[in-house]
Amino acid sequence: PLTTRTPLIAGNWKMNLDHLQAIALVQKLSWALKDARHDYGDTEVAVFPPFTDLRSVQTLLAADKLALVLGAQDLSPHESGAYTGDVSGQMLAKLDVTYALVGHSERRHGHSESDELVGAKTLAAHRAGLVPMICVGETAEDLAEHGAAAIPLAQLAAAIAQLPQGATFVVAYEPVWAIGSGQAATPEQAEDVARAIREALRDLRDDETAAATRILYGGSVTSQNVAAFLKQPNVDGALVGGASLKTDEFSRIVQFRK
Ligand code: PGA
Repeated sequence: PLTTRTPLIAGNWKMNLDHLQAIALVQKLSWALKDARHDYGDTEVAVFPPFTDLRSVQTLLAADKLALVLGAQDLSPHESGAYTGDVSGQMLAKLDVTYALVGHSERRHGHSESDELVGAKTLAAHRAGLVPMICVGETAEDLAEHGAAAIPLAQLAAAIAQLPQGATFVVAYEPVWAIGSGQAATPEQAEDVARAIREALRDLRDDETAAATRILYGGSVTSQNVAAFLKQPNVDGALVGGASLKTDEFSRIVQFRK
């Protein structure tokens, strides 16, 4: 059976833009996208601002009924309590946050997040009613040693190990060597790993989950290369870092079919 997966373009702002800059960018982006609605059709567009911006962006989206979806860049593995500095999934859900990134390479490497912790965060997101966006990807050394797919597949298996059957999640394949480097994977490389991920999901879950789960590519995506990635049968969207901070560039990416 033919499964249609809604394309998803996600902008990961990382630690950029204070809440005033966030409001300005979202306003500009919404205007740009309103005019372009017929050029991006059913594509879902999500932004992942820093925690401190979420309330401002939520208010803006709700007031203007803007068709942008909110994501958070991280969350606590805990529900509440004595966890200084943590932000819970419940708190994010209250702000109309839909997605939570888990296991981004900057968390895995910069904050020594283990596969086990990423698994706990994935479960915490699900329990709070958020959709975990599970980031997986190999370093340049992993690539040389194990090939492209081995590490992403192991990371994915660990991330969903505790997640109940039937839970919805998104996978973002982001080769570490392609993030912020200007050196994107080729569309064929992205497709090879995306296909391997989908095949693995058949074993780890079931055929329906494998067919329905959206798999994104991330790593130096621009308006120049996005269409070639989205043309791949197993690539359903893009997780965009640097290029999501510029309204014009990000709205061109959203209109990748143009
Ligand atoms: P980049 O970042 O688009 O700047 O390479 C992608 C990401 O880290 O999600």
